[in-house]
Amino acid sequence: MRIARTLTELRSARAALGAGLGFVPTMGALHDGHVALLAAARAAGAPVAASIFVNPTQFGPNEDFLAYPRTEEADLAKLAAAGCDLVWLPDVATMYPSDEATMVTVTGPALRWEGDIRPGHFAGVATVVAKLFGQVRPSAAYFGEKDWQQIQVITRMTTDLLLPVHIVPVPTVREGDGLALSSRNRFLGSDERRTAPRLHAAMTHAGAKIAQGAAVDPTLAQAVADLNDAGLAPDYFALVEAASLAPLDVLEKPARLIAAARLGRIRLLDNIPVG
Ligand code: AMP
Repeated sequence: MRIARTLTELRSARAALGAGLGFVPTMGALHDGHVALLAAARAAGAPVAASIFVNPTQFGPNEDFLAYPRTEEADLAKLAAAGCDLVWLPDVATMYPSDEATMVTVTGPALRWEGDIRPGHFAGVATVVAKLFGQVRPSAAYFGEKDWQQIQVITRMTTDLLLPVHIVPVPTVREGDGLALSSRNRFLGSDERRTAPRLHAAMTHAGAKIAQGAAVDPTLAQAVADLNDAGLAPDYFALVEAASLAPLDVLEKPARLIAAARLGRIRLLDNIPVG
């Protein structure tokens, strides 16, 4: 596995890999969800590159950029074990030169939900992914369905900017009790960790009821009330059209149930297909 920390190192390592390349962008603190992305990339047969970059522009001023977990040594061991061929570890000055004047702003699927709650977040995500695509020049890039809105934003951005990268979604990897793996789960206290799976349980319950014909709005409202009773504070719990993220008040396929809920200082995000 080659490790590149400068653009010069990246260029020479990238050139050695040929035209077809699978790419897994990450912010590090790797877990089995990230490993599933690498496995999907490996299964496609091309060489695989990953990046680790905690991207400052996607964090709001009161968010956890400085406290975001950084575990480089363990991450590199996981990437090597997963058969990664190249790791790109840029620094902030390489990604954001002081004279830069370009950001990528996405509307459509970036409006609403995380876009409302985290102003500027998806511009940060779209900008860093566009830059990483330009540096790494992958033919395919793998993203987790765990961040459903993010995948729709990146797919939209890639299509709209005519970037020659195939975006491949990979199903969410979960703990045995249903909690979606996340780099931030390590910050859950033991009581919170016991409460956290209630989010996915509420989603599967509401999703099944809606799929069986229950009225959408009362079913969602009941789920929110149940989560509040359980000590989770939902920011949203919504049935949406899968690609546009537009809210649905009756089930139309393909639909997705998306939710975010606060638990202590952690925000849990999850989503499932419905119907
Ligand atoms: P992050 O390092 O959190 O920015 O995530 C990097 C990539 O891993 C993104 O495409 C995420 O959607 C994906 N990812 C994070 N958690 C999971 C999970 N539990 N299952 C599948 N993919 C995930």
